[in-house]
Amino acid sequence: MAILVAGGCGYIGSHVCKMLSKRGYDVIVADNLSHGYAENAKWGRLEQADIGDRAALDRVFAANKIDAVMHFCAYIEVGESAAEPSKYYRNNVANTLVLLDAMMNAGVDKFIFSSTAAVYGVPQRTPIEEDDPKNPINPYGRTKYMVEQILGDYGTAYGLKSIAFRYFNAAGADPDTEIGEAHIPETHLIPLVLDAALGLRDSIKIYGTDYKTPDGTCLRDYVHVNDLADAHIRGLEYLLKGGNSSCFNLGSGRGFSVREIIDTVAKVTGKPVKAEETPRRAGDPDILVAKSAKAFDVLGWKPVIGLDEIVATAWKWHKKYKKAG
Ligand code: UDP
Repeated sequence: MAILVAGGCGYIGSHVCKMLSKRGYDVIVADNLSHGYAENAKWGRLEQADIGDRAALDRVFAANKIDAVMHFCAYIEVGESAAEPSKYYRNNVANTLVLLDAMMNAGVDKFIFSSTAAVYGVPQRTPIEEDDPKNPINPYGRTKYMVEQILGDYGTAYGLKSIAFRYFNAAGADPDTEIGEAHIPETHLIPLVLDAALGLRDSIKIYGTDYKTPDGTCLRDYVHVNDLADAHIRGLEYLLKGGNSSCFNLGSGRGFSVREIIDTVAKVTGKPVKAEETPRRAGDPDILVAKSAKAFDVLGWKPVIGLDEIVATAWKWHKKYKKAG
């Protein structure tokens, strides 16, 4: 069984490739290496291709008998999406259409899509359920929600079977330290706090202390990247067995505040982390916590890796990666 992993050289995609390969799937990675790393393709065959390049995709589909596609190629920075919406709509929406059309042309009808909690915008209740209102508040979230809607239309018209996974906060790293989270520039909380623990930055900024949460800082639902990878394979197998298109939240159901993350990093690493309180970052809701009961009911998925281990795996990889430069 061969799976085409678009964006398989990136953070989440590479963890999924490793797990797919360990579970006996053939992995073909399509990546333009704009943000990913070629060495992350070691669990599959790398086809260096941009998903916006229809001719290149046609060649990949012609050369391989592909059973399903997983799609991880997206720009993910909320602030950048507001500053450069054209880049986001082009890559996240228009290029996804090119990929879907190449799939349809090749007769591949199973698709797993990386969506996001950002489709909900500022949620009206917590924890968030899949049917809650979708009101994304930035271009990034809108691109993801647009693709979800496109998937529905492709299902109705062309018979596409798809699963959209709405990630909450992906975090942690491969326990074998082969792969981990390395965004350039880094904007995510846990890697930044780890930088502070490693002495690569003086302090970490806490963006806002006046949120409606117990300690005034934002609450987020952190999920280990290997728990996400496991969900993807369950989703794939559900579609392969004839399951219907659907969308699922992927979260733990438990929120941790920015201060709790900083304290956990200090505890796990044994290093002090200096925090500086600063004004809010634009577009951050107070609380984003998932109800993932649907993923459990339909896919039997629940996350099994807790926050200490998320931070411990990230720390182990972070030290190795940052030391290597
Ligand atoms: N955050 C922070 N300082 C930082 C980076 C992030 O206080 O240097 C906060 C951010 O406001 C949010 C939480 O940490 O409440 C998680 O942010 P991240 O960018 O990691 O993920 P997001 O929730 O935006 O996907």
